[in-house]
Amino acid sequence: MADLVLKDVAKSYGQVNVLSNIDLEIEKGELIVFVGPSGCGKSTLLRMIAGLEHITGGTLEIDGTLVNDVPPSQRGIAMVFQSYALYPHLTVRENMSFALKIAKMSTAEINERVEKAAKTLQLHNLLDRLPKELSGGQRQRVAIGRSIVRDPKVYLFDEPLSNLDAALRVATRIEIAQLKESMPDSTMVYVTHDQVEAMTLASRIVVLAGGGIAQVGTPLELYERPENEFVAQFIGSPAMNLLPGKITGTGETTTVALDAGGTATSTVPSRAEDMGRAVNIGVRPEDLMTTDGPAIFTGTVNITEALGEVTLLYFQPQGGADPIIGKLQGIHPDLKGQQVALTADPSKVHVFADTQSLLYRDRPIKEIATKAH
Ligand code: ADP
Ligand code: MG
Repeated sequence: MADLVLKDVAKSYGQVNVLSNIDLEIEKGELIVFVGPSGCGKSTLLRMIAGLEHITGGTLEIDGTLVNDVPPSQRGIAMVFQSYALYPHLTVRENMSFALKIAKMSTAEINERVEKAAKTLQLHNLLDRLPKELSGGQRQRVAIGRSIVRDPKVYLFDEPLSNLDAALRVATRIEIAQLKESMPDSTMVYVTHDQVEAMTLASRIVVLAGGGIAQVGTPLELYERPENEFVAQFIGSPAMNLLPGKITGTGETTTVALDAGGTATSTVPSRAEDMGRAVNIGVRPEDLMTTDGPAIFTGTVNITEALGEVTLLYFQPQGGADPIIGKLQGIHPDLKGQQVALTADPSKVHVFADTQSLLYRDRPIKEIATKAH
């Protein structure tokens, strides 16, 4: 049975619709990540699950129970915020015990739970410290520990790493992954705007955009089979290149003549009636490779960025279109100013018509968004 079921959930503030048509089933034990640009409604969706925001339309079930009107404290959820919200005058142990004391749990039980959580989070040596005597990462661990002791059905995290510096963010991200592994039955919903966090932590990712779900899938499904241009460009860095063109060959494979010259072949199938259709070809920078044969794209390298293991190449197409970015393994100092021909494996060439992948056009967008994986 799914742990969390959202059906046609909507949220509006007065006349402003923030979210609509949200259909989602989250299984027990999953770590689901909501990702999307700032302001797309990630926190709002999480806060509706928590019960901190009223649901304007649709239904929300937790563990088989309709909870639309159930107050936060009775939903069996625990929320970890971006700001740690620890009580500054209480020690780590007191902070972690606080909610249990309020719930009138016995001291023995409280101690047992706190010790166990402290061990899981490697806080056992810090139990008598005050929050000001802890680093940012340690404080975040205490905030997580405070929710673990309550043994909730569902953990909700809202950008828990965004206040940490880059190195600590990576370290804490790995700790959260390990924490999840140590609690395989607990369900976690994790909000971030950082696609690397989403890719590394999630069992499935929900990409939110434009007030709805753009795609749901495992990290690799989103990377390899984006269903629309938004997901194609949101997942992966640098973003997938989109090149306009027209379909000149249909069937099992699709051939596209690019407006900037060059031809791309894709293993995405198309129909006879697609002939001549305006499309965008999507190719990831890392899927482009230099060639002596037929090229998808030939251009002069304007800028190179050597990142060590890879080099980014920037081509400026004619007519002021967006630059095309290639990512080659190794260091290529000699390519700047050179004319380079690039191609890609046809299985790595995506075809988008009206922003939707041709692969998914026979299914309505809502079905795409909610299909079970
Ligand atoms: P995210 O977490 O993805 O950055 P939010 O869920 O915080 O986005 O916000 C989604 C949208 O809802 C934003 O446009 C925001 O301005 C709007 N919003 C959030 N809270 C309120 C509120 N209390 N009243 C009116 N609009 C709000
Ligand atoms: Mg937010």
